[in-house]
Amino acid sequence: MKRLLILGSTGSIGKNTLKLVKEFNGEFEIAGLTAHSNIDLLQEQIEEFKPPTVVVSDRQNAKILGDRIGERCEILYGEEGLLEIAKRNNYDILLSAIVGFAGLKPTIESIKLGKRIALANKETLVVAGELIIELAKKFNSEIIPVDSEHSAIFQCLQGESKKEIEKIILTASGGPFLNRDKTDFESVTIEEALNHPNWNMGNKITIDSATMMNKGLEVIEAYWLFGLKKEQIEVLIHPQSVIHSMVAFRDGSIKAQLSAPDMKLPILYALTYPNRLNYGGVKTDFKKIAQLTFFEPDFDKFVCLKLAYDAIDKGGIAPCILNAANELAVDKFLSGEIKFSQIPVIIEDALDNLYEDAELSLEIIESYDKKTRNYINNRYK
Ligand code: NAD
Ligand code: MG
Repeated sequence: MKRLLILGSTGSIGKNTLKLVKEFNGEFEIAGLTAHSNIDLLQEQIEEFKPPTVVVSDRQNAKILGDRIGERCEILYGEEGLLEIAKRNNYDILLSAIVGFAGLKPTIESIKLGKRIALANKETLVVAGELIIELAKKFNSEIIPVDSEHSAIFQCLQGESKKEIEKIILTASGGPFLNRDKTDFESVTIEEALNHPNWNMGNKITIDSATMMNKGLEVIEAYWLFGLKKEQIEVLIHPQSVIHSMVAFRDGSIKAQLSAPDMKLPILYALTYPNRLNYGGVKTDFKKIAQLTFFEPDFDKFVCLKLAYDAIDKGGIAPCILNAANELAVDKFLSGEIKFSQIPVIIEDALDNLYEDAELSLEIIESYDKKTRNYINNRYK
């Protein structure tokens, strides 16, 4: 039995993970669950999976939940609660599936315990890739990607060594606006942007997919995870999302990983690697796939993708500013405060005005995350 601590159990990745725990009865045990504010769903999860400890973000919710469930489960709250649950040595695998910057610090605590990290929270590697990779080496913690593209590459690299890689090809669905004219981005509605053609995911990553910032964040994620040069990471539009990514080797051979678009597959692989389980999910039937198509991405239309590549060149604190600005711009778009077309404008503004040389540390990263949010909040009221 592997013991899992799931950070973000009420989200899209968290719920999919719990479906797997249920399906593979006897393989996994729940050591802890955390949620931001959805205490109704967390309560159901407590009743079904019986974790010894859970965490919610605010004290009031912790109290309400405590009144409902009594002594059956310990309830912690706030950032301290998240750090505390991550520091407890009562689990084998951390499923890091909080969305955004909030996932960073608890993930670091788990790395320091040398745990396996099943990493969905790509923002962790975007904002602090260098520190995370160093820490993982130091504490002997395996980081296994959950992001489907990185899982694909990770799977293609089994039995291979880094020096044989010519490049990796990250596939991208292109999101809902692949065929929409850029001049029309001003009028994009929240509903249109939340309507992803292939994947059903949390709101933030769905908007990131619509701007293609998701692919930009994934380029940075791949850069750190696989230790490649920026020039070795290529993005290719593949609207069917059947090929999840590819690796081209120096002898001209290319490996790809294919499956139906179902996040439970990369989640399960991260939990069971190097083994696999008999999963009864959707099987790929080539006779039913009419065609697989590929295009080059349009960097003028999807400015966020370009900004992410540029942030790797700038290095240092740039990806952290990019990430914070993006998180806030997405929040503002979702709350109707800004237009879809303003998202890249705000990110570029933050990078132009806040980027400076900075020696990276967790404290510096946290301070730039805050600085960027303050800057944007003051400028775009
Ligand atoms: P989601 O919005 O559905 O869920 C987020 C989870 O984090 C929820 O449990 C929520 O309660 C919790 N949370 C949110 N803000 C928090 C905060 N400030 N403090 C503590 N907890 C907080 O998101 P998701 O789609 O499941 O994505 C989670 C992560 O996985 C993201 O980093 C995303 O990029 C990545 N990811 C998701 C998918 C997918 O298919 N959904 C695919 C690849 C990668
Ligand atoms: Mg992905």
